[in-house]
Amino acid sequence: MNVHDSERIAGMLEAAGYVPAATDVTPDVVVFNTCAVRENADNRLYGNLGQMYPAKKHHPGMQIAVGGCLAQKDRATITERAPWVDVVFGTHNLHRLPVLLERARHNAAAEVEIVEALEVFPSALPSRRSTHHSAWVSISVGCDNTCTFCIVPSLRGREADRRPGGVLAEVEALVADGVIEITLLGQNVNSYGRSLGDPGAFAKLLHACGTIDGLERVRFTSPHPRDFTDDVIEAMAATPNVCPQLHMPLQSGSDAVLRRMRRSYRQERFLGILERVRAVMPHAAITTDIIVGFPGETEADFADTLRVVREARFAGAFTFQYSARAGTPAAAMDGQVDPAAVRDRYERLVAVQDEISWVGNRALVGQPVEVLVVEGEGRKDAATGRRSGRARDGRLVHLGAPSAALIRPGDVVRTAVTRGAPHHLVADGPLLAHRRTRAGDLWEAERERPAAAAAAGAPTLLGMPALRR
Ligand code: SF4
Repeated sequence: MNVHDSERIAGMLEAAGYVPAATDVTPDVVVFNTCAVRENADNRLYGNLGQMYPAKKHHPGMQIAVGGCLAQKDRATITERAPWVDVVFGTHNLHRLPVLLERARHNAAAEVEIVEALEVFPSALPSRRSTHHSAWVSISVGCDNTCTFCIVPSLRGREADRRPGGVLAEVEALVADGVIEITLLGQNVNSYGRSLGDPGAFAKLLHACGTIDGLERVRFTSPHPRDFTDDVIEAMAATPNVCPQLHMPLQSGSDAVLRRMRRSYRQERFLGILERVRAVMPHAAITTDIIVGFPGETEADFADTLRVVREARFAGAFTFQYSARAGTPAAAMDGQVDPAAVRDRYERLVAVQDEISWVGNRALVGQPVEVLVVEGEGRKDAATGRRSGRARDGRLVHLGAPSAALIRPGDVVRTAVTRGAPHHLVADGPLLAHRRTRAGDLWEAERERPAAAAAAGAPTLLGMPALRR
């Protein structure tokens, strides 16, 4: 959600006349779009702001803006702790950024504007995507759940759903633009449609995506086990361009812990969903999120988590050591678990999950795999001369170096898996097929003629700017 918002921020600034700064110049405007989900988000923000201070001092007129969840949470504290910040804006008023920058410049004073309810759905704003081949499509923002560890509802607000017609129009426009893969995005995609009076709306949306010509891959994140219904499983199985992938957050395998987390499904329901998904999509790669060391978690609770993880046979898991978020109910709960025990459980969980992932990946050796080539997926690609990408089921695949020169990000290749590692697959053999796509053409044009491509709407890369001292 945060990355998607960054694309909107970049697009909006561009529509207001700003241009992306080259990497070797000091930019006139820097925007930090913050996330508050991970631990230490605030330390990292103030560290980064501190790093920007000398650049700002030596570059008159430079403006720094801070938005996103941490801005929504900390508000005026940001300009108190970092008085060189010019603009603070929240999660509900992204669209105000250009005006706030202008006003801060005119008044030579910081502008802090945080509002409590969504003013403009971010999808209505211009966007600058980070790739040509893939795009996020937001179907809802906010969340009506009250998981006791989570700070999202207090910062993103109640769930607001977009109308399906608007979602599908955006998907069609993206496909016309060369996009072949979309990810439908919401804090809880399975509650999509309730506010529109249609609880079956998400399954219908998947079916409708299946009718869009040229759309090859449809993914979604995140579902919620409580609201995940069989009509969605049926829609996934019946819609060929919906990928055989499911990210289903477990959080804990202990019913007692789930109760304290205020997550209203239980381990039996969770495993039942996986069984029904696999009955119709036997090769679906199912991944999850798990928190260990939630307040009150005992060794017996943790043993339940390990048992569910073994039964679930996840293809991969994002695992987290619980850490309190100020302002959440869990932060004030009794029974905070000793950090050493949390670390120990975390390491045991990672070892179990890595072994399961590895077994699953080794079983794919010799199997054909279709890969959408993606720039930046393989951290060592530059050194190894490989290219990397994602299989239809979401697995990371590193392609052999001899093939790399021929293929471009955005192209789709077929090859065979030659090795399975715990967190990725390797396909070192020859390509069995290579389809050049329009997204690949756009990537190539951008490399050959960066200025012309930028003017024609090439995506902007997001990230920390490299500043000259
Ligand atoms: S479903 Fe729970 S964890 Fe997910 S965003 Fe909503 S409150 Fe947070």
